[in-house]
Amino acid sequence: MRLKDPTLLRTQCFVNGEWIGSGAIAVTNPANGEEIARVPNFGAEETRQAIEHAQAAFGPWAARTGKERAKILRRWFDLIIENKDDIAMIMTSEQGKPLAEAAGEVDYAASFVEFFAEEAKRIYGDVIPSHRADARIVVVKQPAGVVAAITPWNFPAAMITRKVGPALAAGCTVVCKPAGETPLTALALAELGARAGIPAGVLNIVTGKASAIGSEMTSNPLVKVLTFTGSTAIGKILIEQCAKTVKRVGMELGGNAPFIVFDDADLDKAVQGAIASKFRNAGQTCVCANRIYVQSGVYDIFAERLASEVLKMKVGDGTEVGVVQGPLINAAAVEKVEEHVQNAVALGAEVVVGGKRHARGGNFYEPTVLKNVTTRMLITREETFGPVAPLYRFETEEEVIRLANDTEFGLAAYFYSRDVGRCWRVAEALEYGIVGINEGLISTEVAPFGGVKESGLGREGSHYGIDEFVEIKYMLMGGL
Ligand code: ADP
Repeated sequence: MRLKDPTLLRTQCFVNGEWIGSGAIAVTNPANGEEIARVPNFGAEETRQAIEHAQAAFGPWAARTGKERAKILRRWFDLIIENKDDIAMIMTSEQGKPLAEAAGEVDYAASFVEFFAEEAKRIYGDVIPSHRADARIVVVKQPAGVVAAITPWNFPAAMITRKVGPALAAGCTVVCKPAGETPLTALALAELGARAGIPAGVLNIVTGKASAIGSEMTSNPLVKVLTFTGSTAIGKILIEQCAKTVKRVGMELGGNAPFIVFDDADLDKAVQGAIASKFRNAGQTCVCANRIYVQSGVYDIFAERLASEVLKMKVGDGTEVGVVQGPLINAAAVEKVEEHVQNAVALGAEVVVGGKRHARGGNFYEPTVLKNVTTRMLITREETFGPVAPLYRFETEEEVIRLANDTEFGLAAYFYSRDVGRCWRVAEALEYGIVGINEGLISTEVAPFGGVKESGLGREGSHYGIDEFVEIKYMLMGGL
């Protein structure tokens, strides 16, 4: 990997402002299986030490003014943008997404640091009209304390800044465990954070055995907030573990997004939206369209147009020019996609495009469109997390709302219609935290991201994103 600044490729853990530990766990490039680097295999003991350093750093960091914290975060934002190409290269090497998409993620990741740098100055309290003439009620927001963050591999930069940005802005300190597949992006961000002047102990990154690190994070009484993005299965384990010390939890879990195209939709926009929502990051996002419901009047034409766009997609190593779909993250991911497609075909689905592993081999899978998909198929129940667009046929609005809501998940949903009454009805009836109306891309730092049902707890991004990291204190000033 060639970088303009090779010192951004950090392979040790970052604790209390120092780079510590030595390489044990291999980080590989999903495009070719080559080892890129080795990172330390930290366990409970090292995590406990990192938490103690974060606790020691908490008082002084919380005592700074919002404006002081804002200045440091703003410098971090500037450095992330200045080093965008290198971070994108590190990300593509360990995660696989095309370079342009990686650079887009760096912008997105940086936007949280910028937004929460601004927000640091505006964590306002409240004065509530008193219930008594001789008393006053004042509400202040104080930083919650040490935050533990566990993040996934699909957005190696943005899932870190979406948590660390607001936590640091609020005056909290953080111990973060990035995904084992993608620790290098996280470590590069920490290096830039140190250069920006984030004090020692305020942001710590540990790599290693997920369950050991997770157990320490969830049981250590010094940790006040656990913020997690990942699978619903692991999220449930972490919530249970946090119950013992009654930690606050923020959970961004799995999705099973419906994408609905009504007869009256603008079909060109719907096709564009479906491509963007479905195939971004090779289908490996928790807001990717997982079930595409198309009303019968436009079903065939939509399938045809979508397929012709999908046929144009170039698959390859993310560093190659013109590639829009990289490899999947690992062999298990490819196997899951393969299983979903085979199961659908066995139960009567028709492959319109793709439907098999890509000729390049390895972790590459062809972008795929399936027709005549029915709710009996595996793909309906489980998040595929791959480049497969399954098309279901429906007849009525009531029917599709019922189908769309028939899942334990509730993160993102999308639909296309030009009827304003229908837009309101459907948007309000969908049991989801996020609804894209005539739009396939919904992520932005200024809006609240999060799910209902088993997709999670809490919201990230926007002014709501601070809430997870502050405690509300009510002070009654009596005896006036
Ligand atoms: P995925 O299947 O997409 O990798 P996971 O939920 O397994 O999603 O992983 C998300 C994050 O959770 C990663 O950082 C992973 O290392 C971490 N993780 C996995 N298992 C545990 C666990 N038992 N305790 C704490 N963290 C875990």
